Amino acid sequence: MDLILFGPPGAGKGTQAKVLQDERGLIQLSTGDMLRAAAAAGTELGRKSKAVMDRGDLVPDELVIGIIAERLEKPDCAKGVIFDGFPRTVAQAKALDAMLAGRGRKIDAVIELKVDDEAMVGRMESRVRENPGAARADDNPETLRKRLKVYHQNTAPLLDFYRDQGKLVTIDGMAPITDVSATVRRVVGQVGQPA
Ligand code: ADP
Repeated sequence: MDLILFGPPGAGKGTQAKVLQDERGLIQLSTGDMLRAAAAAGTELGRKSKAVMDRGDLVPDELVIGIIAERLEKPDCAKGVIFDGFPRTVAQAKALDAMLAGRGRKIDAVIELKVDDEAMVGRMESRVRENPGAARADDNPETLRKRLKVYHQNTAPLLDFYRDQGKLVTIDGMAPITDVSATVRRVVGQVGQPA
């Protein structure tokens, strides 16, 4: 089963992806984590991406499509993947469809965590207060607002792309984390079942 967790920065995609990874044995692929790892390791990809990420812009499509294509080759991805933070543009979504089709696979469901933008700023600020050591270079209110703007401009249009494919399921991402997990679990349990 291949899934996409969809939503703006701070919506809780990573948290829910980890739940599915633990419970379903799917592999979480977070392009944000992969790019930060590349930046920390000082690879060419990391050097190209770091400044773009730090200012809250999108890393060029060909770079993120490349890292996903490479990662999907690994045998652990054969069981299924949860895409977290990818795709973020229509070009990425089309490339992903083609990559999966080449492997006889497809996206089974796109789970949108619907949240309120202003609450995301508050969530990020309390996360940084609770765990300052884990704060990312892009975890500040100005950059988060930029990331939210980029989300609405470039990424939100993908909702129609997946709605047209009949794959979009929207759930309330403002509910308590355990309730969101319960709903995600239920949705995933229904994927692939006859209607
Ligand atoms: P968040 O969802 O909190 O914004 P991510 O960890 O998913 O955080 O992404 C952090 C940054 O990494 C983004 O602001 C962007 O610069 C870059 N990035 C991650 N995934 C992509 C992607 N699919 N396409 C382009 N840039 C990406």
